[in-house]
Amino acid sequence: LTKDRYPVKRGNYAIINDQDVAKFESILEKHRVITGEETQGYNIDWIGSVRGSSNVVLKPKTTEEVSEILKYCNSRKIAVVPQGGNTGLVGGSVPVFDEVVISMSLMNQIERIDEYSGIVRCQSGVVLEALEANVREKNLCVPLDLGAKGSCHIGGNVSTNAGGLRLIRYGNLHGSVLGVEAVLANGQIMNLMSNFKKDNTGFHLKHLFIGSEGSLGIVTKLAIHCPTAPQAVNLAFVGVENYQNVLDTFLLAKKELGEILSSVEMIDELSLGCSTTMCNIQSPLQTYPFYMIFETSGSNNAHDEEKLTNFLNNAMEKSLVADGVVTNESAKMKTIWEMRERIAESLLKMGYCFKYDISLPLSHFYEIVPVLRERVGDLAKIVCGYGHVGDSNLHLNVLCDSFNKEIYSLVEPFVFEYTSKLNGSVSAEHGIGFHKPKYLHFSKSKEAIDMMRQLKTLMDPNEILNPYKVLPPLNK
Ligand code: FAD
Repeated sequence: LTKDRYPVKRGNYAIINDQDVAKFESILEKHRVITGEETQGYNIDWIGSVRGSSNVVLKPKTTEEVSEILKYCNSRKIAVVPQGGNTGLVGGSVPVFDEVVISMSLMNQIERIDEYSGIVRCQSGVVLEALEANVREKNLCVPLDLGAKGSCHIGGNVSTNAGGLRLIRYGNLHGSVLGVEAVLANGQIMNLMSNFKKDNTGFHLKHLFIGSEGSLGIVTKLAIHCPTAPQAVNLAFVGVENYQNVLDTFLLAKKELGEILSSVEMIDELSLGCSTTMCNIQSPLQTYPFYMIFETSGSNNAHDEEKLTNFLNNAMEKSLVADGVVTNESAKMKTIWEMRERIAESLLKMGYCFKYDISLPLSHFYEIVPVLRERVGDLAKIVCGYGHVGDSNLHLNVLCDSFNKEIYSLVEPFVFEYTSKLNGSVSAEHGIGFHKPKYLHFSKSKEAIDMMRQLKTLMDPNEILNPYKVLPPLNK
């Protein structure tokens, strides 16, 4: 399937032989070198869009083991793909051909949680939800939350510079991650760990590993600043009649909720219909063209609740919001979040989904959805949009029964051209991965892509790290 959809040629890499496997077994314990049938799950991505044919999965536990593995692979020119929780949505976490998978799942130790500074040091394979549970014990929270939290790794989050539901409050990982330790393609360990928010000692090399999707090195450890956990969380879920009102309600929320605003999401009617139907969730509101979720996180519940209730009343008085509910009951908040977080999973259950994750100016944020709906007509079952409107990030989805070349040619490169004309980003938060290298030029200048390539050559001259991903092929 992969080869039909994405014609790529296998690079000039070594083919794994018995001596290679024996070498890996000498670096790791034998049971941490997986071969045969058991490698299946590591070869296919979350949305089932890329299927590799790797026969070897390695599970290191220490930085030194990662270093030994890469040193050997580099000397033999064996291609590798780093894999975290394998929840990435751009086909970056699985092999395209027979690359060796380096699974970070056993590198899951939390080294230190400093409750005074809020700085947490851990290995990169800690599952986000587990990290959150651990830091909560010290009254801290991870400055990142996303629907895949039960499986994704903090190292995968760093490698994709994941955004998520609370970016509007805590900013992105370039700010929160204070340092990383990474292993380069030749096995060299780069200690770029730092315990300070303020550390202006020359070039900030850590940024090269945040969002480079395993193409420049394998992140083995990181230090992340975790803010104090909120004492009070409140949620408003509202129904809105049109997109202009979505925008004006967002503006009102920023003005009235100010520093306690921690999430602003938008969901269109069809997207909400998917999660409520497929996951059997009862929405507290009747049907509206748009829905919004506003979350506040603060330190005084009475104060926050009053602010959120006043905001909702004002929004309704101004006829911006047609109906809405405010709650701080955990079961009700969970249901509201589930309606948002389970849309991706629901779409996947309903058929094949072309998924786009784009940044667009808010003035044009939603218009691509009806434009695309008209363009694909009856060929698609559903064209819908939802996302982090507070961060100008739209998740655009085209659902059909199965992969369909006709629809594919109607949506790509159209979506990227459309985005580029509006000076948007062809990848807001999911990354470039395997799906989008050929569209990178829609968001990056030739000079910027050239410099990316020079850095790749410097750091991974044999191009063994995650080949076919992120950078466009040289002849493009
Ligand atoms: P993987 O999928 O395993 O890998 C992703 C990329 O990072 C690959 O290129 C891989 O090679 C590389 N990589 C992984 N670990 C390392 C490492 N230690 N060192 C070097 N490279 C590495 N994303 C968002 O940004 N915001 C969201 O709100 C969001 N919601 C999601 C909801 C659902 C239901 C799902 C399924 C996904 C969602 N995602 C979201 C996408 C995905 O969860 C994120 O991209 C996440 O950060 C990937 O983490 P992972 O550990 O699963 O990485």
